[in-house]
Amino acid sequence: MTNLTGELSAAVRNVANFPVKGVTFKDITPIFANIKLFNKIIDAFADKFADLKIDKIAGVESRGFLFGMPLAVKMNIPFVLIRKKGKLPGDTIWASYNLEYGTAIIETHKDSFSEGEKVLLIDDLLATGGTINASAELVRQLKAKTVAAAFVAELAFLKGRENIKDKNIEIFSIIKY
Ligand code: AMP
Repeated sequence: MTNLTGELSAAVRNVANFPVKGVTFKDITPIFANIKLFNKIIDAFADKFADLKIDKIAGVESRGFLFGMPLAVKMNIPFVLIRKKGKLPGDTIWASYNLEYGTAIIETHKDSFSEGEKVLLIDDLLATGGTINASAELVRQLKAKTVAAAFVAELAFLKGRENIKDKNIEIFSIIKY
């Protein structure tokens, strides 16, 4: 894992003042151009969650899809989508969360989760934890259970981990800043 952390840290590109002044954006796109590294990340997630008996993997739009679907294929677990408002065609449920200015809404299809299912949430990066709290709320609305949330990177200084309301969710990130 230490080796993977080093490789990842070399691959992730820091982009100053994007999308707004004062934010350093962690650009993970170089990971996709390095297929060996990408496979190592998927393997690390698969190893980590091998024993959790997960029923569903839910990817959070949009970079969560890029890691979530390959992980679902590798683990042979069904994959569902959590998307921004207005993107999903079927009947949906929604949850909102606070942004710096205003609120955002995410949705999932009503049939994404069934009662009692164990769910793994996946996104590229944990910042304040707002997105994951809202995602876990969607899982809860459908009476399923978020057992873990996985990220490639975590901005530890934003304390997103502490902001996650459901303390039973296991939080895993490969690299912490
Ligand atoms: P949060 O809800 O604050 O935990 O934010 C997480 C979401 O915002 C993830 O989907 C990230 O892709 C994105 N995000 C937030 N901050 C950054 C950042 N500094 N660099 C890259 N992505 C970010």
